[in-house]
Amino acid sequence: MNLYMPAAFDLPSGLSYFNGNSLGPLTKRAKARVGEVTAQEWGAHLIRAWNTCDWMSMPARLGDRLAHLIGAGESTVMVGDTLTLKVYQALDAALAIAPNGRTVLSDTGNFPTDLYAAKQVADALILVEPEAIMDRLSKDIGVLLLTHVDYRTARVHDMKQITRAAQDRGIICIWDLAHSAGTLSLDIDQSRAEFAIGCTYKYLNGGPGAPAFIYARPDLIADINPRLVGWMGHATPFDFDLSYACGQGRERWRIGTPPVLQMAALDGALDLWDQMDLDQLETEARALGDHFIAGMDALCPGLSLVSPRLSQARGGHVSYAFDQGYALMQALIQDHQIIGDFRAPDRLRFGFSPLYNSKKQIDHLVETIASLLKTKAYEKPEYALKSRVT
Ligand SMILES: *Cc1c(COP(=O)(O)O)cnc(C)c1O
Repeated sequence: MNLYMPAAFDLPSGLSYFNGNSLGPLTKRAKARVGEVTAQEWGAHLIRAWNTCDWMSMPARLGDRLAHLIGAGESTVMVGDTLTLKVYQALDAALAIAPNGRTVLSDTGNFPTDLYAAKQVADALILVEPEAIMDRLSKDIGVLLLTHVDYRTARVHDMKQITRAAQDRGIICIWDLAHSAGTLSLDIDQSRAEFAIGCTYKYLNGGPGAPAFIYARPDLIADINPRLVGWMGHATPFDFDLSYACGQGRERWRIGTPPVLQMAALDGALDLWDQMDLDQLETEARALGDHFIAGMDALCPGLSLVSPRLSQARGGHVSYAFDQGYALMQALIQDHQIIGDFRAPDRLRFGFSPLYNSKKQIDHLVETIASLLKTKAYEKPEYALKSRVT
């Protein structure tokens, strides 16, 4: 299968986009689907569309469409809300069944939102370096909350090995797949992890603010009683019962009214993902990363690689440290039509997707960085101005 399909995307011509790890680009299918749902469903059917167009089951249908991307079975994945809310739901459900108590273990490579949530809901949060996780697993830990691929360095945790070691000690595992889904080949069922969560606006091209997903191991779902609940997760929402009765299976993860237009965008984007060969995707994504690193070794030896050099230890992006990183990235974006991003304090981050990035584009990226380093053109004062979003 040829994964390189730039024609499926609506990217501005001449632009090199290396930021699909943060916001996946617009697909033509997503654009068309939003148009259809807006005009033909919302416009023509109005409120009837909840039934006539089955808007009500969109969160579950989208969950089924993306289940194969994380190696989950049918009826185990629910789409909705933002990832931050799904972190709370997963943590709450995990802590409720954790035999070892309410202490959460995570690592310093985790994303802030996950750590803030853990701090709020756990009795205690223990943070160690990512490399120290295996050694810290012990019976004083109730729940392990890890992000599979580090958002800064792209370092990958060994999901199977860590999950097995944690479960041997009675620890409940939550994996955040935000930076893995849509770039690595995942098998959440086989890992036996209790919970997984992730978002769809990064590699999966669901669009800005696209809903998140949540998975619970099938043997657990019937006993989960979420505390963050709303009428949409009720067993019979249209009875308008005064008291809450939790819905069947994964329905209980629902909270409020689903964002239909946002889900339409994801629905369209997933057309590209239905037949995806994840092993091939992972291999090709890492090969692009290797190509970038080889180019940087040759032309930009002054920048230091902060991602693992070994491709199997890496997700789909590659980061370099450079003290003028913010200004250099601004120069790439403003003057060279090359988009990556910057993560404090000094990280240049580039995400690679075999779907629309080519080796030729990467060669151009490396040559442009090399020339900026040589001329110091990034030293212009306007590149130092920090925007609200970096
Ligand atoms: C991107 C990301 C988030 C973002 O959460 P939102 O609620 O979608 O803003 C959270 N956690 C991780 C690990 C992420 O990579």
